[in-house]
Amino acid sequence: MLYLDNSATTRVHDEVFQAMLPYLQEEYGNPSSKYYTLAENAKRAVNEARESVAALVGCEPDEVVFTSGATESNNMIIKGVAHYYSNNGKHIITSKTEHPSVLETCRFLERIGYKITYLDVDKYGRILIEDLLSAIHSEPPILVTLLWGNNELGSLNDIEKISMVCEEKNIMFHTDATQIIGKVKFNLSRLKGVRFLSFSGHKIHGPKGVGVAVIRKDNIGKRTKITPLLHGGGQEFEYRSGTLAVHNIVGIGKAAEIAARDIDRNISKLTQLEKRCRDLLISKFGDQVVFNSDSKNKIPGILNFLIKGVNNQRFIIKHSDRIALSTGSACSSTKPSHVLQAIGKTENEIRSTLRITLSADIELKELEVINNL
Ligand code: PMP
Repeated sequence: MLYLDNSATTRVHDEVFQAMLPYLQEEYGNPSSKYYTLAENAKRAVNEARESVAALVGCEPDEVVFTSGATESNNMIIKGVAHYYSNNGKHIITSKTEHPSVLETCRFLERIGYKITYLDVDKYGRILIEDLLSAIHSEPPILVTLLWGNNELGSLNDIEKISMVCEEKNIMFHTDATQIIGKVKFNLSRLKGVRFLSFSGHKIHGPKGVGVAVIRKDNIGKRTKITPLLHGGGQEFEYRSGTLAVHNIVGIGKAAEIAARDIDRNISKLTQLEKRCRDLLISKFGDQVVFNSDSKNKIPGILNFLIKGVNNQRFIIKHSDRIALSTGSACSSTKPSHVLQAIGKTENEIRSTLRITLSADIELKELEVINNL
């Protein structure tokens, strides 16, 4: 069976698995304990993981906060800013094509009195800078939160431009980078306007249940204050209390190291696989196939398309012994995709839409399975 749902989750890399194992049974110390070897070893392992993540994204190690995943990171940053800076205003800008962990957080804040602007998107799901500027102009926000790369379509927002706008106007900017890590090259040291960034371990061949919230210092090197979601022992620079999941943190650290090491090879492999997949779909389904994703300025390896006259759920079930693919996001599979709605797709088109998301460890010849569907 060929797994083509790598934006939902990925297989843990062999090197990640091996790196994690000792931290379950031999090195089980609590990194917040002191002086004895088990604790010091755990602390050293967490610090190394922090350094690997910092090197991958281009920030300082003490700007890396470990969480349970991108959902928590998004909640923590958005609610944390909203609460801490509520005296400065109650306006937050986001977009209609965000992941539910951002959208639902914003809806929650709306219910308790915040004003949320949900920016419209173009036909590929990208926001327009003019719309962002006019929303900022209408009422300066306390936070702008915009997805880097869309999990359904793969489209990339112009984060460089958005970062510049927010830096210039001194507005805090958060981006959910969950889908682009290891697939799009960037360095936060050159994106000064990005104050917060989130991602999950399991999308980059790391374990589930661990993620990162990058919380960068301000331009004079002071820590950015936010209200924590979890109060307690003050771990993670007081941003996120709770005993650290050392094995998972070691796992995401190793996955980050591998993502940085293999990024060039992975981008070119994903680009090659995507092209082959596109060609195979066209040769198999001809005029019946319509691509919803843009072919450029996107995350390599994400293909969103519809097959006219085909019911997506039935298609997936029918072929489930040979391939695993999805109708869109795994996080909202019971509702019609809000992303496809936002880009103007009809209900019929949404019901025929499928998403293939590739991984660099797939062999080109494995894709031939598409020919036999
Ligand atoms: N943001 C994006 C863009 C995602 O694709 C996902 C996972 N589908 C998340 C956030 C949430 O990640 P997790 O489920 O690991 O918390």
